[in-house]
Amino acid sequence: ESFHDVDMGEIVMGNIALTRYTRPTPVQKYAIPIIKSKRDLMACAQTGSGKTAAFLLPVLSQIYTDGPGDANENGRYGRRKQYPLSLVLAPTRELALQIYDEARKFAYRSRVRPCVVYGGADIGQQIRDLERGCHLLVATPGRLVDMMERGKIGLDYCNYLVLDEADRMLDMGFEPQIRRIVEQDTMPHKGMRQTMMFSATFPKEIQILARDFLEDYIFLAV
Ligand code: AMP
Repeated sequence: ESFHDVDMGEIVMGNIALTRYTRPTPVQKYAIPIIKSKRDLMACAQTGSGKTAAFLLPVLSQIYTDGPGDANENGRYGRRKQYPLSLVLAPTRELALQIYDEARKFAYRSRVRPCVVYGGADIGQQIRDLERGCHLLVATPGRLVDMMERGKIGLDYCNYLVLDEADRMLDMGFEPQIRRIVEQDTMPHKGMRQTMMFSATFPKEIQILARDFLEDYIFLAV
């Protein structure tokens, strides 16, 4: 097994080489081809399994294939800068920052700009950072709802949605915020976007979320 089994384009392949990840972990081996084939995914995987790269690599690869969508040939913005193409929801500031760090490694030397927003930090600074351009946003649910209510973020172009550690987000009481984010009218609907859920466990509440958010999904347990 190697990362070369699936072609994720020059930028991603080059950045994998820089990270010195030699062999894909099991969740990477199975999830990457599923995500690249544009199917929705429900993956049961633990922390430490390499799940972050399992969704970041194929999602970034898709963004490079789709094009970052920054400007049309007239130099005008086809998409406002604070409207990300992909969103990763995570339960805590620590996890959001870890995902963001990994995203920066894999977006290195590309035009794709990752951003991170989380509670308990200066929102003004996070808003200014988003306004510099954001293709991939990593966010905790409460802070993202706050940004939405202030009109500082739009999810109209969010074609890739990841819920990481979904069971932990529900345990922390984030279900109303997650539903506010995912079920808003301006967000591409299921079937129009690609949605990936990662969770260590698969209780009833996660099954319901999967039913509501995912379209004809593949179930993966590693
Ligand atoms: P995660 O489960 O995504 O939090 O990853 C756990 C740790 O494994 C992180 O420190 C990653 O940088 C590292 N990691 C992820 N994938 C690989 C890989 N294929 N080879 C070596 N290390 C990896």
